[in-house]
Amino acid sequence: MNAEIIAVGSELLLGQIVNTNARFLSQQLADLGINVFFHTVVGDNPDRLESAIEIAEKRADLIIFTGGLGPTKDDLTKETIARHLRKELVIDEDALTSIELYFKRTNRVMTENNRKQALVLSGAHILPNDHGMAPGMVVEAKDHTYMLLPGPPKELEPMFSQYGYQALSKANLVKELIVSRVLRFFGIGEAALETEIMDLIDAQSNPTIAPLAGDGEVTLRLTAKHVDGKIAQSLLDNLENTINQRLGSFFYGYDQTSLLEEVMKTLQTRKLTITAAESLTGGLFQQGLTAISGASSVFTGGVVCYSNQVKQEILKVRKETLETHGAVSEQCARELAENANQLFKTDIGISFTGVAGPEELEGKPVGTVFIGIAIKGKPTIVEKLILGGTREANRGRAVKYGCYFLLQLLKESQNTK
Ligand code: ATP
Ligand code: MG
Repeated sequence: MNAEIIAVGSELLLGQIVNTNARFLSQQLADLGINVFFHTVVGDNPDRLESAIEIAEKRADLIIFTGGLGPTKDDLTKETIARHLRKELVIDEDALTSIELYFKRTNRVMTENNRKQALVLSGAHILPNDHGMAPGMVVEAKDHTYMLLPGPPKELEPMFSQYGYQALSKANLVKELIVSRVLRFFGIGEAALETEIMDLIDAQSNPTIAPLAGDGEVTLRLTAKHVDGKIAQSLLDNLENTINQRLGSFFYGYDQTSLLEEVMKTLQTRKLTITAAESLTGGLFQQGLTAISGASSVFTGGVVCYSNQVKQEILKVRKETLETHGAVSEQCARELAENANQLFKTDIGISFTGVAGPEELEGKPVGTVFIGIAIKGKPTIVEKLILGGTREANRGRAVKYGCYFLLQLLKESQNTK
């Protein structure tokens, strides 16, 4: 079973509105196990709409139309489909009654062209419109299923969820369920990650594996199909296990999560508090953390220690450290993390110092970063990175690495407990 969605409306072609109906319907159809192979957009023009229908009939079993069911002159979807399928338009008494009621309820005068909205294709299964006037329709003809839905998303979405979805199941169009899961990885490049699982990618059928890279992260979307949703989930579980036997150390979370969110969740479950001393990142880590609701349970405050004076006076970095090794150094990162942790009486102190660019600093090249992590009762760890991006990218990337190293340390300390 495969489907094509035809959105009708010149305003879509003019760029005045975005085709969110196609997005919504595609997501719904995926849940139903119906493949969507084409999205078509056509203006309010009967000849061009008819040629779009002829093309769709060659390549889709189910054709869903959105828009053009209204009362005005430019609304001609059902007229065009009626002509194309050689079907008559007849008044649907239920629809007419509900339109009349709608006008009574809203105290408005009904015009003759509002009657037009109660016209439906003869023989159609009607999808009631609980949020507007024009009913939707499902018609079986010429070995195809045609579904007509109104344009406004606030009418289309509830209509499809309440009645359309069911109509497709009843028409026996729905066979398999599709479930998917996104695995997120950090600290490994896309090419290296793909190499590790090349055999799985080459052999994929059900589930499928789709890699995507961006912003220092790589994600894998696993998608399984089965008539039984539980079996589809277990297909995903098995593939995830195989992948994580190889890449588990880079894996950090599922679906829409972020490294900062995972840090937050881990700190919350382990009942740990954190502070930060940020030079290079100027507060980015603390900004990111406090952007997540519930931050107050793990974070009370930190320091933006951009100048050496603040590093020395507030965070008590030793004068010799700054004179001998500089602010961008392992020693400085260590003292910043440890001293911040003491100052704020927290369980974890994290520090970021480095050269964001574009100019080098203290004779150290752009992209040099030191991240210190002091966990109470454990030896402090300092990681050195050489990043290759722009100033903005380097600062953002440093925060992500900080989160990644911290998650690794917390995982290890969990395992050795
Ligand atoms: P109406 O009775 O409101 O005229 P209709 O079924 O005739 O409904 P259209 O006239 O094509 O639908 O569109 C009405 C409104 O619905 C548009 O102005 C737009 O706001 C929204 N709309 C139409 N098509 C889409 C689409 N594909 N995606 C998102 N919104 C849409
Ligand atoms: Mg309209």
